[in-house]
Amino acid sequence: MNYRCVHRWAFSNWGGSLEPREDPLEAPAGHEVTVRVTHCGICHSDLHVQAGGFDMGGGKLSSLERAGTRLPVTMGHEIGGEVVEVGPQVTSVSLGDRVIVYPWLGCGECPVCERGDDHLCPKASRNLGIQLPGGYADLVRVPHDRYLVPIGTLEPARAATFACAGITAYGAISKLSPATADDWVAVIGCGGVGMTAVALLSATSPVKIVAIDPDPAKREAALSHGASAAFDPTAPDAQKAIAKACGYNIAGAVDFVGAESSSSLAVNLVRRTGQVVIVGLFGGEFRMPLPMFALKSLSISGSYVAGLNDLRELVALAQRVELPEIPLDLRPLASVNQALGDLAGGRVVGRVVLQP
Ligand SMILES: [Zn+2]
Ligand SMILES: [Zn+2]
Repeated sequence: MNYRCVHRWAFSNWGGSLEPREDPLEAPAGHEVTVRVTHCGICHSDLHVQAGGFDMGGGKLSSLERAGTRLPVTMGHEIGGEVVEVGPQVTSVSLGDRVIVYPWLGCGECPVCERGDDHLCPKASRNLGIQLPGGYADLVRVPHDRYLVPIGTLEPARAATFACAGITAYGAISKLSPATADDWVAVIGCGGVGMTAVALLSATSPVKIVAIDPDPAKREAALSHGASAAFDPTAPDAQKAIAKACGYNIAGAVDFVGAESSSSLAVNLVRRTGQVVIVGLFGGEFRMPLPMFALKSLSISGSYVAGLNDLRELVALAQRVELPEIPLDLRPLASVNQALGDLAGGRVVGRVVLQP
């Protein structure tokens, strides 16, 4: 294979479809590594990247372009593959290693990045698949070998999804206080990330899980991955029915949708001292009577992907315990536009993983 030329699927205008293109690739310098992409998951946030931003509520949109993202954009941040080229200073990986790539890069130099929290870097965002070219390609250039996590004997398609779906779920449930077998946790939105959270919670925590999703196929899948109950949030009186089924003892609610309706459902479902973690980026605005915070002793937090060390911990966890497996839907890279359309239309159960 010629590592001097990358074949990518990229969009050249915001909201436009992805087109195949070829770009030259320099030999890796310093700590840079070239990874031959064997698998790349499609994430719901790719739809926002393609659209050019997020709905911030009240008709306002965030803009990736205003924040400095340049066209064309090669998306894809759940990258798994094989190390095929290393720069002269690379010591932590070797040619042929099977790895996944941590994509949420910051400046790489500040104290926040140095402790592995690149995703929270106050100085720069250099995310692979947004600001830097991502994994909808046959090759990806990684700026430093420290962002590579060897996967050992893990199945590469599944391991690739750890880089976003996996750590987003892991990071969000890590924010919940320890709970007992009498407590319930509500998982709202059971797409790829929500389903991973159901699987991780059932593998690592004694709590009972209630899965909440309008799609019967997703509710069914959540029940088979460890949820004890599942509800359709659009059914009449859904909130009352869910609260009752959980004995009015929902200690935490993780909102993987992040819409106005899902976040207010989360806040209303949790018991006093309950925790709400908002993860999804569907968009909109959140309003709540201020006395609710005090009267319910409520905590609300957000969670955005997770750090490099979380990815390493998740890989180690997957090697140690048998995690219930979320459904994967493997498709060729060339069908990426169709796959994004299916995701936008809610026609995907689990995670689509592209294979270049
Ligand atoms: Zn993602
Ligand atoms: Zn930094």
